[in-house]
Amino acid sequence: MTALRRTKIVATLGPATDDLEVLEKLFYAGIDVVRLNFSHGKAQDHIDRAKQIRAMAKKTGRRVGILADLQGPKIRISRFANDKVWLNEGQYFALDINLGEEEGDYGQVGITYEPLSREVKKGSRLLLDDGRIVLDVDKVEQGRVSCTVVVGGQLSNNKGINLLGGGLSAAALTDKDKKDIKTIAKIKADFVAISFPRSAKDMHEARELLTAAGCDASLVAKMERAEAMEVMDEIILASDVIMVARGDLGVEIGDANLPAAQKRLIKRARQLNRAVITATQMMESMIENPIPTRAEVFDVANAVVDGTDAIMLSAETAMGKYPVQTVEAMSRVCVETEKQRSVRVSKHRVDMQFERVDLAIAMGAMYMANHMNTQGIISLTQSGSAPLWMSRISSGLPIFAFSNQEATLGKVTLYRGVIPVYLSLKSTDQAILNQSALKTLTDLNYAQVGDTYIITQGDLSNKSGGTNALKVISVEEDEKKQATS
Ligand code: PGA
Ligand code: MN
Repeated sequence: MTALRRTKIVATLGPATDDLEVLEKLFYAGIDVVRLNFSHGKAQDHIDRAKQIRAMAKKTGRRVGILADLQGPKIRISRFANDKVWLNEGQYFALDINLGEEEGDYGQVGITYEPLSREVKKGSRLLLDDGRIVLDVDKVEQGRVSCTVVVGGQLSNNKGINLLGGGLSAAALTDKDKKDIKTIAKIKADFVAISFPRSAKDMHEARELLTAAGCDASLVAKMERAEAMEVMDEIILASDVIMVARGDLGVEIGDANLPAAQKRLIKRARQLNRAVITATQMMESMIENPIPTRAEVFDVANAVVDGTDAIMLSAETAMGKYPVQTVEAMSRVCVETEKQRSVRVSKHRVDMQFERVDLAIAMGAMYMANHMNTQGIISLTQSGSAPLWMSRISSGLPIFAFSNQEATLGKVTLYRGVIPVYLSLKSTDQAILNQSALKTLTDLNYAQVGDTYIITQGDLSNKSGGTNALKVISVEEDEKKQATS
């Protein structure tokens, strides 16, 4: 069996992936989850792309999850009369609520975020276009924020604005997001990402809106506000997954604080039994080039060492020149990095008391698997909790999540080291189920005669949270014969 990659790859869809040939190559290159970015495009574009993904999953036999990413309250400048201007260091530049949609020039530009003039004051620092342009506020009067340009450069239409240190009050869910949630429910996305949440309350509100729309997707909190870092734990606990959204977060907390923030977020998410995606500029130079820089290779490898479940590509796949090469490069860096002993051994939870039987079984399975000669873990799961917990423990072994629940199989696509497998058998006889699981793995070429697996399951196979049994089973000669006959 070839080395399996444990770290998952999330690829953002866009014009570069709309070509079905490219999409098919991306599937074979190993994308695990796709991101529909609701900051761009119309609802129908996303519906069409979701359809293409489902069709391609059938064609290639690879299960790929769908993550819908809401735009959220990104604050943006309006437009310029001539689309763009050049700002020089030291010059005057104003953001003005009273200015028309297309009236920007080299001295001022409109803005639609009405509270801005109340939320900044003399001395505040504003970062435009992901920090490429820096403005210091000198004066605020009647909706006009007058600034001095600290770092100049080209500024074009609709670029984003962040306040260094955070503190802009915009609510996490906009009217557009609320509308988009209805589209996302129709698409049946596996994950929904909330942009710029400030607190657990924003996540609870999002969850209520999703439930009301009939959507039971896993909830992703994008950690991209300075104030969210202060209440990290409560946001993690209110979510199923977090994203280290390094683009906006880096602008808000300062780039030098980003590496430590990434490590803290990944560690905390794992400790609190949540999954984590590391995002933005991981292979940025591959938008234009067929090979990554050394720094990018190290960035991907370091995220793997930090313990991330998944790494994300944005413009690299959505509109880059080399989407397939980018996924291939990312994949090979993961596979090699995962061979390091430090990412295969676990020191976690040695002192922990387990309050739930299913959690104890999951932890016990990982302890056994890591300490005896086994080829992997099989978890027969209804809700996906057991494989999530298992994958919080570092290991070099694959965790096969067997389920007959499509929604559960969609969610485990994101978890590190977890491979979704559809369980077709409806039997409640454990011995029959176990043999059938081994045969499936043999048929899929994951297992061979002599291999030993640890299997976990519940007495009642279709009850959620019911995992209460652990067995050690081996692939016998017979299965091989059955498999090949
Ligand atoms: P975005 O989120 O790409 O939607 O801005 C990710 C980030 O901010 O890093
Ligand atoms: Mn962002």
